[in-house]
Amino acid sequence: MSTVLPAAPERPLPTPTRESQPYWDGMREGRFMLQQCASCGKVRHYPRPVCPHCFSMESNFKEAPLGGAIHTWTVCHHPFNFFFKAQAPYIVALVDMDAGVRINAQLRGIAEADLRIGQRVTLAFEPVTQEITLPFFTP
Ligand SMILES: [Zn+2]
Repeated sequence: MSTVLPAAPERPLPTPTRESQPYWDGMREGRFMLQQCASCGKVRHYPRPVCPHCFSMESNFKEAPLGGAIHTWTVCHHPFNFFFKAQAPYIVALVDMDAGVRINAQLRGIAEADLRIGQRVTLAFEPVTQEITLPFFTP
C-alpha cells in the first residue's frame, strides 16, 4: 500500500503593481524605498496612488533608512498559510521605522523572551525569487 503525500504548499508571494513596483525593485537591490508625496512631502507605506494626507496623486520614491523600533510583536504558532508551518513558531514584528512609517515582517535571530517594546531592529532582505525579495527584521 502506498501513500500519496500532498504537494508541499508554495510560499505565498506578493504581486507587484504599478504603484508598488519601485518598492519591490528596491527590495531586490537591498534598498528600502518609500513612496513620498510630491505635494506635501509625507512618506507613506504601503504604496498607493493617492496621498492619504493631501489627496495628491503625484509621488516619487526615495530610499529610507533601515532602522526602526519595535512597536509590538506576535509569535505565530498556528500560521495562517500552511507554507509557514515548518517555520513555526516564528515572530512577526510591527516596527516604527525611522522614516516615519510602520511596517511588519518576520523578526529573526532573537528569542521572544529577549524582546521589548522600543527595541532597535534593522530591516534586512531575503531574496526568494528572481523578482521578489522579502523584508525581515534582525536585532
Ligand atoms: Zn500629500
